[in-house]
Amino acid sequence: MINVTVWNEGLHEKSDPAVGRVYPDGIHGCIKQFLSPQADFSVRTATLSQRSCGLPDKVLDSTDVLLWWGHMAHDKVPDKLVEKIRQRVLGGMGLIVLHSGHHSKLFKALMGTTCNLQWRDADRERVWTVEPTHPIAQGVPQSFDLPQEEMYGERFDIPAPEKLIFLGWFAGGEVFRAGCCWQRGLGRIFYFQPGHESNPTYHNEHVQRILINAVRWAAPTLPVQLPEGCPNPQVTPEERYREASAQ
Ligand code: ZN
Repeated sequence: MINVTVWNEGLHEKSDPAVGRVYPDGIHGCIKQFLSPQADFSVRTATLSQRSCGLPDKVLDSTDVLLWWGHMAHDKVPDKLVEKIRQRVLGGMGLIVLHSGHHSKLFKALMGTTCNLQWRDADRERVWTVEPTHPIAQGVPQSFDLPQEEMYGERFDIPAPEKLIFLGWFAGGEVFRAGCCWQRGLGRIFYFQPGHESNPTYHNEHVQRILINAVRWAAPTLPVQLPEGCPNPQVTPEERYREASAQ
């Protein structure tokens, strides 16, 4: 069983009636709805307004894959929580960063770059599958169109993806690395660009297929049997230092 937590700041849906109409149960509610029928997934949601931002230790400790949607309140996520989640990813938790999550503290901390990009209002986007044999691309057509999606364009200031799975092309001529994979420590990270709050992107069957596949791909294969003497990445350098100085 893969324990999935869908985190969403959940503010646009409340403050903008147009967004609330597209996602009456919130973006997190919509994502939970299409992930939940997968027999090997156990899905719950968490939002910024909940206690501990919805991510107390007992939730993080039992999360195999975390999905992250944020936009207007990146700075409201406490640094301490960001660092805690970053350590969980290094220890093997999978992370799927969605759309404007590119500017979250968490994603920037894991990438080590600004994660800036070009953007403008909605346009037609064609998503191209450029790595069709990758597990995240299974069942996804060679290309599909999103009639309205916020334009994100290059340059996207990220470290070169270890795998580029999807490329976005916009009717205005821009292109964007729309689906990218990295590994940090033991954890797998997937960034997926489509998903602006006022567009019904998460209702699209291909987007849903991509995110279902991404959850399975990002799920940890822990417990990893580390060779004797190999430092355990789940132990932070500070803990290692404390252990060493206690001896
Ligand atoms: Zn957006």
